[in-house]
Amino acid sequence: MLGQMMQFPLLVPKLLEHGARVFPRQEIISYLPDQTIHRYTYADLYKRSKMLSHALSEKLGIARGDMVGTFAWNHYQHLELYFGIPGAGAICHTINVRLSTSQTEFIINNAEDRCLFVDASLVHLIEPIAAALPSVKHYILLNAPAGFQCRLPGFIHYEDLISGSPEDGEWGCTDENEACAMCYTSGTTGLPKGVLYSHRSTCLHAIMVGLPNYGSLCLADRLLVIVPQFHVMAWGIPYAGILSGSALIMPSCLLQPEAIVRMIQEQNVNKASGVPTIWQGVYAYLKKNEIRNLSLKEFLIGGATAPPNLIDHFQKDFGIEVIHAWGMTETSPVGTISKLHTHHQSLSDLEKLKLRSMQGQTLPFTEIRIMTEQGEIAPWDGKTVGEIQIRGAWIIGSYFKTTVEDSFTKDGWFRTGDVGYLNEEGFLLITDRAKDLIKSGGEWISSVALEVTLMSHPLIREAAVIAIPDEIWTERPLAAIIWKDKEQTAEADEIRGFLSGSFAKYQLPDQFIFLREIPKTSVGKFDKKRMRQLYAEGNLK
Ligand code: AMP
Repeated sequence: MLGQMMQFPLLVPKLLEHGARVFPRQEIISYLPDQTIHRYTYADLYKRSKMLSHALSEKLGIARGDMVGTFAWNHYQHLELYFGIPGAGAICHTINVRLSTSQTEFIINNAEDRCLFVDASLVHLIEPIAAALPSVKHYILLNAPAGFQCRLPGFIHYEDLISGSPEDGEWGCTDENEACAMCYTSGTTGLPKGVLYSHRSTCLHAIMVGLPNYGSLCLADRLLVIVPQFHVMAWGIPYAGILSGSALIMPSCLLQPEAIVRMIQEQNVNKASGVPTIWQGVYAYLKKNEIRNLSLKEFLIGGATAPPNLIDHFQKDFGIEVIHAWGMTETSPVGTISKLHTHHQSLSDLEKLKLRSMQGQTLPFTEIRIMTEQGEIAPWDGKTVGEIQIRGAWIIGSYFKTTVEDSFTKDGWFRTGDVGYLNEEGFLLITDRAKDLIKSGGEWISSVALEVTLMSHPLIREAAVIAIPDEIWTERPLAAIIWKDKEQTAEADEIRGFLSGSFAKYQLPDQFIFLREIPKTSVGKFDKKRMRQLYAEGNLK
């Protein structure tokens, strides 16, 4: 027998409607690319998102299911696009501004974006490819000063577009299963692939991420949204934040440690989110400038393994709790979050750190399993390693326009390509990416384990380990290292000695190279594909 409750769709614009109705005065503060600060409230965000959704359909002819691209930093207009585009029944396609021009061109054409909203400070990245983007009928400039000129055909200003449109009326979306947003994978293993989020998956993800045992968001919080809005919808934090009534602080392109610390201080920020590279920089800046007593109490870290010593040092030196999370573009993105339970409080500091450094436990309505090489589901035993597979209410069911062989199992789980194990309580530890594992003489060596240990060395700031071809062993590890301080370095033998406490002899890297910079992907992760290519060309130096 069916239940007899109303069918009330979970729609993204309704999420904002709730925020604006219940917390109309809550603030949204944007540090704009021109260094000015813009402030307004949830009520303003709501009104202007409504104006935008009307303008899209009535002035630009955007219809249900159309793709609308955004090429922008984190700020209030980009938030308006997050709600106004799906509010018009269309799909908010956020484009990574750090990709190569050819990837950007591929993505816009693949998505068939009907119009493109571009930050004035990023126009120069779109101008050279505009002639090769036949689907784009309108370019709309964000944050462009009066009199701004550019070569984008027929461009209009954002404020001119929305001006005069009604601030009320019905939203143009009704079906929770329709798409509200799209992101492309970062394309480190081939062409980027589109992942289409639905209204329902986005709302459910937002609700769960904000729960006390996970992101723990509420109306007393002031969130600094560092993760770019073009990277998996800023990890869903804008949606979860508005649902929880939290103040949002949007940093646009001002992502240097000094700027981040200034925003934390000026806006009394208590929570934030970002990748390890950002937090490494913030930590070094706080130490160097002896800054203490920050309002920041905790932050989410993810996108790549968080080095345990970073988690430890933030806690010990600044009393800031680092919450480790794992996810992917294909998982909206949050898959797991690591938070200690009450019974863990009696553990030793080291044991607690070990748990907090794991990627953590699943959220409600998602499930994870480990599939061994032998095709068996691994027990939760803290040691049996295999591929991480996931299913749930905000996990990809299929890619946009493309079928990727082997992405899904026959029984309906998404194959992540990450490798790891679950402990007895279901805490996940990622030991590697399947393609980053090093196979030496038939034995696996974990590049992640080597990197994490290297980054716990007091002189090392960043370390990336790759496999290099070897005639005898097939592959051997090479470690690329950046020192914290170029005046304080060590010899390769000393580093090898440091590692030998934790690794078998055959696992130790054969080569160490000391770099000024490690190649990174568009979202700030070690670009191992590029490193391997540079090594093959003799240019990794
Ligand atoms: P993306 O789709 O760009 O967000 O990349 C997803 C990939 O980043 C995952 O499949 C992992 O390989 C990696 N990743 C994300 N978060 C973590 C984490 N906390 N620890 C280790 N790897 C991570």
